[in-house]
Amino acid sequence: MRPPFQVPERVGRKNNPGGSIIKVKGNDIGGSGAIIIAGPCAIESREQLFETARSVSLYGARILRGGAFKPRSSPYSFQGMGEEGLRLLKEVSLETGMPVVTEVMDTRQIELVSEFADILQVGSRNMQNYPLLKEAGQAKKPILLKRGMMATVEEFLLAAEYILSQGNDQVILCERGIRTFETSTRNTLDLSAVPMLKQLSHLPVIVDPSHGTGLRWMVPSMAKAAIAAGADGLIMEVHYNPEAALCDGQQSLCPDEFSLLMRDLRKIALAIGREIL
Ligand code: PEP
Ligand code: MN
Repeated sequence: MRPPFQVPERVGRKNNPGGSIIKVKGNDIGGSGAIIIAGPCAIESREQLFETARSVSLYGARILRGGAFKPRSSPYSFQGMGEEGLRLLKEVSLETGMPVVTEVMDTRQIELVSEFADILQVGSRNMQNYPLLKEAGQAKKPILLKRGMMATVEEFLLAAEYILSQGNDQVILCERGIRTFETSTRNTLDLSAVPMLKQLSHLPVIVDPSHGTGLRWMVPSMAKAAIAAGADGLIMEVHYNPEAALCDGQQSLCPDEFSLLMRDLRKIALAIGREIL
C-alpha cells in the first residue's frame, strides 16, 4: 500500500515491521493477544474504585483505568480527586495486581503521576499539547496517547512521533472517536483508523468505545467491532453504579454488562485467530 502521506520516521511500521510490544507488569500490549483495560471514568471514592476494580478484575480486565485529574468541559463539574485519587489507585493496584493507567493533563503532573501509575494517559484534548508530549517523551513510563477529537491520522502519528523523538518508544495509540456532523452519538468512532494505524505504524492500537459512542447500550457492539477490526485492545468505562457516577455515567457499563461483553469478545477474538488476554 502506498502511504497516504509521509509517515513519520520513528513511528513508521518500517522501523519495526513485526510490531512493537509494550510490556506492563507482565502484560503484553501489541502482541498476539488483545488486552482489556477497564474501570471508572474518574476515581470518586475508595468504595467506588475498589468495588469497580474488583469486578472488572474478576471478569478479565488486565489493566485498571481511572482518572484522578479530569479534563471537564465545565469548570464547575467534578475535577477529580487529584493526589488522593492517585493514592487510592496505587492501593487498589496492589490489592488486585492490576497495573493502572491515569491521565496527565499538565507537564507539572508527570512526576507525581509517574510515582503512582504504570501507564500515563495523554487525553484527546491534549494530543497537540506539544510541551506535554515532549515531557511524556522523557518519562520512564508507557504513554497511552488518545487521538485528538479533531485530529487526522497523520496528526495523530505526528503527536506520537513527538514522544518517540524524545526517547520514549513505549506509546500505545488509542482511537476514541472524532467530531463529525453526526450528533446522535457523542463522537463518531473511526474504526477505519485501526487498520490504517496498524498498516502505517508499528505501535499498538487500542480502541475506546465508551468515549467513541457516549452511549452505554452501544458500547458492546463497537467493542466487538473494534476487536474484529484488529485492535490490540480496548479501554472501557465501567462503574459499579453508573446512575450515580460523577462523570460519564451514561457511557459506563455496569459490571454485569461488562461480564457479558467479555464472554462475547473472547469468541470474536478466537474467530480471527487471536485471544483476549
Ligand atoms: C477519559 O479517558 O476519561 C477521557 C477524558 O478521554 P478522552 O481524552 O478520549 O476524552
Ligand atoms: Mn470519561
